[in-house]
Amino acid sequence: SIAKAYPYANTNKPKEYYDYEFLQVTWGSQDAYEISKKIGRGKYSEVFSGVNTLNQQECVIKVLKPVKKKKIKREIKILQNLTGGPNIIALLDVVRDPESRVPCLIFENVNNTDFRALYPRFTDMDVRYYMYELLKALDYCHSMGIMHRDVKPHNVMIDHEKKQIRLIDWGLADFYHPGEKYNVRVASRCFKGPELLVDFHYYDYSLDLWSFGCMLAGMIFRKEPFFGGTDNYDQLVKIAKVIGTDKLHEYLKKYDLKLHPHIQKIMGKYPVKPWDKFVTNENQKYMSPEVFDLLDQLLQYDHQDRPTAKEAMNHPYFGKIFV
Ligand code: ATP
Repeated sequence: SIAKAYPYANTNKPKEYYDYEFLQVTWGSQDAYEISKKIGRGKYSEVFSGVNTLNQQECVIKVLKPVKKKKIKREIKILQNLTGGPNIIALLDVVRDPESRVPCLIFENVNNTDFRALYPRFTDMDVRYYMYELLKALDYCHSMGIMHRDVKPHNVMIDHEKKQIRLIDWGLADFYHPGEKYNVRVASRCFKGPELLVDFHYYDYSLDLWSFGCMLAGMIFRKEPFFGGTDNYDQLVKIAKVIGTDKLHEYLKKYDLKLHPHIQKIMGKYPVKPWDKFVTNENQKYMSPEVFDLLDQLLQYDHQDRPTAKEAMNHPYFGKIFV
């Protein structure tokens, strides 16, 4: 199984581009940055807003927790490769505390509103617009040979006043090389593609389009997360209860895969649940035949059948943005 689009994006680049292990980081001085307040906390970091005192520019300071050097180098190299791309968070500097040697990543600041408060305020056009802008970021990183592997609302910063969106948190992202075996312990549970849940290690950029589909479904049905599994096994059951089990078994057969014995035990037989079953008074303003068709395409077990980011951008659902 190899990616439909951009399979040789890295092969065609110099080794320094993707061989992040050999990256020699030039650490800037931390003295220039002043921390003001804590704005977030992740598994791998504490995040603060701050200013660059040399130019009064606002910024975000991501203080990394002790993790493997290799992982830090991967995140930095990927950010350096992608900075300047459409709707990609810009890495401004990498600094290290002179005493503790704790590494910090300095980013452009996004005046984000938490998605739980923001998404319910969206109009149908807002959803179409932001999701299209998110696809631009995905198409760009894929064209640069990089899969994000953690697409979810927490990692999409939106400044609604400026109508600005940025894809953040490249800590789980990796370079795609055709035929390489990847770790399936990536993405957040509710956004994990079926490939991860059935232990298929030869996945590609199309994983991001599954997660994107989960985000789109969550937004339009106002159901966050859309597939809310209680663990990785139950996650596949939650998916099957919507897109059915017939296609799941076809998928397993095509790639010669077997369900984990525990999943076999808890998995029933489910028909396809039509999207209109999720329509309520609150969410009906987001409904259209186009969005249902796009969801049908994105939320497919078979990663090879999902549209690429470029193909998704050309879907009629996004046509309305340009008229
Ligand atoms: P996770 O455990 O979710 O993977 P992490 O440790 O990798 O997190 P990030 O996801 O990069 O860290 O950042 C954590 C949080 O900090 C984000 O969810 C967001 O709320 C905030 N944040 C990060 N970068 C920015 C930014 N550039 N502008 C505004 N807020 C940001």
